[in-house]
Amino acid sequence: MKDFEQKIEKLKGYLTVGPKKIAVLAHTNPDGDAIGSSLAWAKVLRSMGHEVTCLVPNRYPAFLAWMPGIEEVIVAKEDNGRAVEAIDDADLIFFLDFNRIDRLENLSDHIMGNQKAVRLLIDHHLDPPVEEYALVFSDHTSCSTSYLVYNIAERLTGLDVFDREAAEALYVGIMTDTGNFSFSFLTPGLFRAVAGLIEKGIDIPSINSMVYNSYSEGRVRLLGYVLLKKMKMIEGGRAAYIALKESEMRKFNFQVGDSEGFVNYPLSIASVNMSAMFTETRKFIRISFRSRGDVDVSEFAARYFNGGGHKNASGGKSFDSIAKTVERFEEAVAEFFTEKKLR
Ligand code: 5GP
Ligand code: MN
Repeated sequence: MKDFEQKIEKLKGYLTVGPKKIAVLAHTNPDGDAIGSSLAWAKVLRSMGHEVTCLVPNRYPAFLAWMPGIEEVIVAKEDNGRAVEAIDDADLIFFLDFNRIDRLENLSDHIMGNQKAVRLLIDHHLDPPVEEYALVFSDHTSCSTSYLVYNIAERLTGLDVFDREAAEALYVGIMTDTGNFSFSFLTPGLFRAVAGLIEKGIDIPSINSMVYNSYSEGRVRLLGYVLLKKMKMIEGGRAAYIALKESEMRKFNFQVGDSEGFVNYPLSIASVNMSAMFTETRKFIRISFRSRGDVDVSEFAARYFNGGGHKNASGGKSFDSIAKTVERFEEAVAEFFTEKKLR
């Protein structure tokens, strides 16, 4: 706690002298927590008189498009000029919901190029490279970055800075990153924070409906296809994976974010402790890993697929073909399960 208070004091040092130009940057393939924490944090910073631009490398999924303020978020892939300008102009850059600058792909170079900007991190992933930041708020036992933003704002400005819209943004982040309050790190403090958000006037049933019941027909049919035709069980049913080709996605009129969450379905089978999803993109294979209990997919992702994340939810990439990637995956799981005595 003392450490937290010291960091808040340091943060105040950066934010109380003069209005600053601030970029708030969240991760590639932004999810509810990336967007929710960014929008709420931008509000906190603006309340302190700063000029704030929110940026994401590529487009957020359609089920987040209703979020108030999201239209001001610059999508770098679609508006590279403004994104680069915001980064080059920034006095401070906040990194939210991820910790590796190299995960920003084309934006990484610009960030490294802006030597005047102070870099600050607010994140809940494991192993932040602390030397890259002037200040690090990192807590992997926080369910979400949004909950971290809530805690930081409580000490920095007080919770009055959050209006109903900011509370909605934070709730979206918390709800999506906890799998609608079913994953780890569901602390009493978190539920107290949620109570605070409800006091701001958020309407949970309508947020639920906008986030979870707003899929396209294509996505729902794609899910059916994937579960029936594509899910493969390995290791005697202890692990499962889904590999989706671009041609298959096209058949279902695929939109960004449509396969989000598919990776969780195999884990609803009693025997399955680890699940993987491979999605083919033009440049590489995007991989998501999920697990339960002691199966550490962040270790697995780092070791075999140049990735990382959390113990039970990680990701990575492969530049091999999808067939070769899946072959490597099966071998890696066999080795990993043997080594960890999971078979
Ligand atoms: P998702 O499967 O939802 O894309 O990612 C799950 C988790 O793994 C997220 O917390 C995400 O930040 C992390 N993650 C996804 N891809 C990568 C990657 O390529 N490298 C690292 N270090 N983490 C990743
Ligand atoms: Mn998150």
